[in-house]
Amino acid sequence: MYHFFVKDGQIAGSEITIAGSDVNHIRNVLRMKPGEQVRIGNGLDRDFLCVLEEIAAETVTARIVSEAEDTELSARLCLFQGLPKSDKMELIIQKAVELGAYQIVPVATHRAVVKLDGKREEGRLRRWNAIAESAAKQSKRVLVPEVCPVLSFREALKQAKKFDVKLLLYENARGMRSMAEAAERIRPGTTVGIFVGPEGGFEETEVREAELCGWSAVSLGRRILRTETAGLAALAILMYCLETAEWPEIS
Ligand code: SAH
Repeated sequence: MYHFFVKDGQIAGSEITIAGSDVNHIRNVLRMKPGEQVRIGNGLDRDFLCVLEEIAAETVTARIVSEAEDTELSARLCLFQGLPKSDKMELIIQKAVELGAYQIVPVATHRAVVKLDGKREEGRLRRWNAIAESAAKQSKRVLVPEVCPVLSFREALKQAKKFDVKLLLYENARGMRSMAEAAERIRPGTTVGIFVGPEGGFEETEVREAELCGWSAVSLGRRILRTETAGLAALAILMYCLETAEWPEIS
């Protein structure tokens, strides 16, 4: 089923008005007709199954039939990604969204290959967020994860200061038990930072600095994973833990 995102102001009672480029898409590309079902959400926390009512030149109106299934993970998994080469970043964003990441924060660590600057970064950020939106649609996310502007390593540590669980993926950490223990600490509502180094990895000084800020260096096994594999493996592990855990009832 096609999925569209609108602003809260476009949801009025049981009626939703779609405007902008989606109208042309519905009318002329998808050639949809009144009566067809679509999914429409605000990209944050509301998502509905709807039926198209009127398809006009400038707007499309739809009637809400029911709430759509909540597909979000119960904890917020934020991926801090040391900047890799650009095509890899796009793959990472798409897959991280499919796996349920809450937010993606690109970080210019010491060994990051790509250092972005001003105007170029603006365009790239727009593209990255468009990739996140289309992956969110494809994977039936209620939330469209944000890809944040690139941060320096120190800014990233600062941004994650209040996170409940902070995992820095480090190939020199030993044993996966620490990853398992971290996963056990995650509860509904927990905010989790997952920090992945770029192709060249973290410098040892970065690992020490992060540890001083409360990050635990954790291993994903005895093999060296590529940067695009590491974050996705960590997200998959935590997603599995969250989706299979049985939390005691909160009274
Ligand atoms: N410094 C290394 C590997 C970098 S791999 C080198 O150049 O040979 C890129 C990133 O993936 C690392 O910074 C780390 O965050 C993550 N990573 C790769 N293998 C890992 C493992 N076995 N355990 C945890 N993290 C890993």
